[in-house]
Amino acid sequence: MLNKKSVDDINVKGLRTLVRCDFNVPLKDGKITDENRLVAALPTIKKLIADGGKVILCSHLGKPKGEPKPEMSLAPVAARLSQLLGQEVKFAADNEVVGPNAKAAVEAMKDGDVVLLENTRYRIEETKNGEAFSKELASLADVFVNDAFGTAHRAHCSNVGVTQYVDTAVVGYLMQKEIDFLGNAVNNPERPFVAILGGAKVADKLNVIANLLEKCDTLIIGGGMAYTFLKAKGYEVGTSLVDNEKIDYCKEMMEKAEKLGKKLLLPIDTTIAKEFPNPIDAEIQVSVVDSNAIPADMMGLDIGTKTAELYADAVKSAKTVVWNGPMGVFENPILAKGTIAVAKSLAETDATTIIGGGDSAAAVNTLGFGDKMSHISTGGGASLEFLEGKELPGVAAANDR
Ligand code: AMP
Repeated sequence: MLNKKSVDDINVKGLRTLVRCDFNVPLKDGKITDENRLVAALPTIKKLIADGGKVILCSHLGKPKGEPKPEMSLAPVAARLSQLLGQEVKFAADNEVVGPNAKAAVEAMKDGDVVLLENTRYRIEETKNGEAFSKELASLADVFVNDAFGTAHRAHCSNVGVTQYVDTAVVGYLMQKEIDFLGNAVNNPERPFVAILGGAKVADKLNVIANLLEKCDTLIIGGGMAYTFLKAKGYEVGTSLVDNEKIDYCKEMMEKAEKLGKKLLLPIDTTIAKEFPNPIDAEIQVSVVDSNAIPADMMGLDIGTKTAELYADAVKSAKTVVWNGPMGVFENPILAKGTIAVAKSLAETDATTIIGGGDSAAAVNTLGFGDKMSHISTGGGASLEFLEGKELPGVAAANDR
């Protein structure tokens, strides 16, 4: 259990309650194309409304880099949240975020009202955790609630700095749920515990590999990063993505797995093509070969069919599964088969299944398996850092229980 005070430990009746949410949703032509993060934020917001708080929401969206950029305004989020909550979420349009408009909107609030501030990254200080903007945010609030798991691996004004200038800083339900699921899986898993890692580069996941190898029973590697492992085994991997500087690291991890008596599964066959598809979803000629038989002029772009079965079998016997990163270039339907097979095996098991955010979350949702998973994290970077065993600054900043 997370040892931080939560919204259940406070009474916000009549209090100005500043809530840091993660409303960093994808937008296309002003329309939200994936609203999972909004839906995930509702339980905390509803609870604070029901308690009679004055609920002031804030978030970043995209990377406006300290300048007001209309295409990254949170206005569309306010409109959609109003629908989801069934009550008005007043949008405090304000290029200073905490400028005259925002202050006036907060001033006019009654108990149970909801206001959404403008994109916190309109302010250059936000990502530098600057004092002035942290104080401005705190000046709007009697109480601070952090429910933005997706930003918890960053120390910014709106999730960390602000906590220094309020008396009470607690976490929301989403933050609690994320940490409970990920924390239980890593530190107290029902075994066998199978961890599946994919994605492009080994270098991005060094610490996750090392930490999960200690905690899990079986570590499965797929995606682009598998080829550095295969090369470390002495295989010819053709023109596949390889991180030459990390070959020794992969050798070390394979030795470590052996020493710890853990299974480390690598692709036994691989889907290859002449070149990387361009555009990424282009029609492409592929074939499947054993992993030790990749021709010098070919590139591995997905796990092969035998590997997909091997990985699905490992998932079948697991009681806990954590998955982060696609098994191949899943943006291309021809190269998505390995990722789909793994997603399907997770959907079909009774094990606790946890999907790290980012591409694997998107893949699972697009395939329609979302509601079959025990938990889909709303944070890509944050869940990876958590799986590395790091303390997340956004969580650490909340008051201890
Ligand atoms: P990441 O952001 O590290 O999770 O990596 C996700 C990206 O890895 C996706 O865009 C995939 O297209 C890419 N990827 C997966 N497998 C491969 C591969 N075999 N070769 C090159 N890129 C890959």
